[in-house]
Amino acid sequence: MLLSHASVFFPGSVITTRFGWDPTPPGPRIHHAIDRAGPGDLYTPEDYLRATWIPKDAQGNTILRLIGEGRELRIYHLYLTELSPTLREAIGLGKDVPAGTKIGPAGNVGIFVASAKGTGRHAHYVYYVDPQQHEEELDKRLTGWQINRIKEIEAKLGRAFTDEIKKREISAYNDLAITKLDPWTKRVRVIVNTYAGWGM
Ligand SMILES: [Zn+2]
Repeated sequence: MLLSHASVFFPGSVITTRFGWDPTPPGPRIHHAIDRAGPGDLYTPEDYLRATWIPKDAQGNTILRLIGEGRELRIYHLYLTELSPTLREAIGLGKDVPAGTKIGPAGNVGIFVASAKGTGRHAHYVYYVDPQQHEEELDKRLTGWQINRIKEIEAKLGRAFTDEIKKREISAYNDLAITKLDPWTKRVRVIVNTYAGWGM
């Protein structure tokens, strides 16, 4: 299993937006993440080799990147002013971040409603895996998923869906995973649905 420790990550939270095709406003869009909302704090669900953070991206979101071997968890919409001292220290010193490290509370930040502002305090978390390092598991779970049946998908889910796929440079999609070019690492990465069958 790629990711476990579900109950550790955001205790007491509930899923507010699922992974995948989301037809509701401000969509339609592909939500390549899971949103969880709750009053408590977030904790690292597994061990990471390194953490980095971006106080404010172009959309006004704060982003925490937790980097492991062949995998990465990105958490958006955080109140980084409240980032836990332990995690701040780990980031500053480039130290390992063990599972169960307190991250801090989920926030309600960003410039656009489409990012986070106005949608309530929540964490938008995206779990990337390196397709080469997880080839066997991905093959097992994602047989027959490649998007080369674009007409078939368009007939089923509509033009907005296929337009979104093109816009986001998505090369494959199903309810379990999305393969796309990662704009930061410039590598093809797989975003896995950490709810449906991936353990979290
Ligand atoms: Zn989200």
